[in-house]
Amino acid sequence: MGAVSLTDIVKRFGSFTAVQRMSMDIPEGSFVTLLGPSGCGKTTTLRMIAGLIDPSEGEITIKGKRVNDVPIHKRNLGLVFQNYALFPHKTIAQNVAFGLKYRDLSKADMDRKVRDVLDLVQLPHVADRYPKQLSGGQQQRIALARAIVIEPDVLLLDEPLSALDANLREDMRVELKRIQHRIGITTVFVTHDQSEALAMSDRVVVMSDGRIEQVGTPEDVYNTPASEFVSRFLGISNILSATSKGANAGGLSLELPVFGQITVPKEKAPHVEGAGPVKLVIRAEKLLLTDLSAPRDERAAFDGVVEAVDYQGQAARYFVRVGDQQLQAINMIDERPFQEGETVSVRFRPRDCAALPGAPS
Ligand code: ATP
Repeated sequence: MGAVSLTDIVKRFGSFTAVQRMSMDIPEGSFVTLLGPSGCGKTTTLRMIAGLIDPSEGEITIKGKRVNDVPIHKRNLGLVFQNYALFPHKTIAQNVAFGLKYRDLSKADMDRKVRDVLDLVQLPHVADRYPKQLSGGQQQRIALARAIVIEPDVLLLDEPLSALDANLREDMRVELKRIQHRIGITTVFVTHDQSEALAMSDRVVVMSDGRIEQVGTPEDVYNTPASEFVSRFLGISNILSATSKGANAGGLSLELPVFGQITVPKEKAPHVEGAGPVKLVIRAEKLLLTDLSAPRDERAAFDGVVEAVDYQGQAARYFVRVGDQQLQAINMIDERPFQEGETVSVRFRPRDCAALPGAPS
C-alpha cells in the first residue's frame, strides 16, 4: 500500500461527476503529478486527499490509515497552492512558525526548526522581513517552508508555480525537486503543464474527464502513451492510420498508406493484439527532415514537401506533406531552416513510434 491510496473514489457535484471511480497508490517518498487539462478533476482529487472536500464514494488512506472521516488539520499534510497567501503583517519567521503554534514546542525548538527550514529553501537571511519585501519566487519558497516545517507525511502542491514568470518557474522546478529529494517527502503535485510534469515527477498520472488515462514514469507516458489523448496532451504527435498484420519476429508488423510496411517493437505496442486497425504515433521531435542527398541510416525515408515553417530560434516546427498526409516535425536547426516549398527527406525510426489499438479519432 502506498503512502496515499485512493480506492474507487467518486466525486459528484449535484448531477455532475467530477471524479469517476479513481484508484491509485502513491508510493512513499515519491513525487507524483496529476496532469491534465483544465476541468479534468485534478484539483478535486487533491482537495479530497487534503480533506477540504469529501468524496461521494470510495476510500482514502494515508500511511495505511483510513482518513475519510479525519479532518484536515489532523491529516498531517503540508499544502501549497498557487496563491501562497502569506500573512502580510507577520514576519517571514512568524509566517513559517505559524504551523508550529499548536505543537508543544519550546521557543528554542521552534526557532531552530524555522531556521533549519529557511536554510533548506536557501533564504536564511529573510527571517525578519515581511512578505511584501520578498520577490514572488521568494514568497513561494516561504510558502513551501511553512508547509514543510511541520514535517508532514505528505506534501500537496496545487499549481504552486503558475503565478511565477517563465524563467523563475523553471528555476523553482529545480529548487522544488531538490528540496523534495533532500527531505524525501511523499509529494502530490497538480499541474496542467506537461513540461513541468515531465521534468519533476517520478510518476505522472494523466487525467481526462475525471478518469485516469495513464500512470507511468515521465518516459513511459511520453514514449509509450496508452491512448490518443495522452499522446496529444504530451506534445505534438502525428497520429497515422495503419493496419496491424500481427506479430512477427521483430515486433508488430504494420501497413501504412504512403509509408508502406514497418515493424514496431512489441513494447511500443503493449495494447495492440492481433490484426486490425491501429494508430501509429510519431512524435514531432522524432520525425527528422534531411536534405534529399543526406546519407541513409536505419530510418525509414520518404520524400515530403515543406508546407509551412514555424521558426522557433534554435529549432523549427515544420508542416510537411507526405502523400496525402500533413505531418509535423520539430527539428533543431543545423545551418539554416528548410524553406516553404522545399522537397525534403522525411525520416523516422520504427522504434521511435508507438502503436495504439483502433482507428484515429
Ligand atoms: P483546473 O486546472 O482548471 O483547476 P482541474 O482539473 O483541477 O482544473 P477541478 O477543479 O478538479 O479541475 O474541477 C473538475 C470539474 O468539477 C470541473 O468541471 C469543475 O467545474 C467541477 N467542479 C469543481 N468544484 C466544483 C463545485 N464545488 N461545484 C460544482 N462543480 C465543481
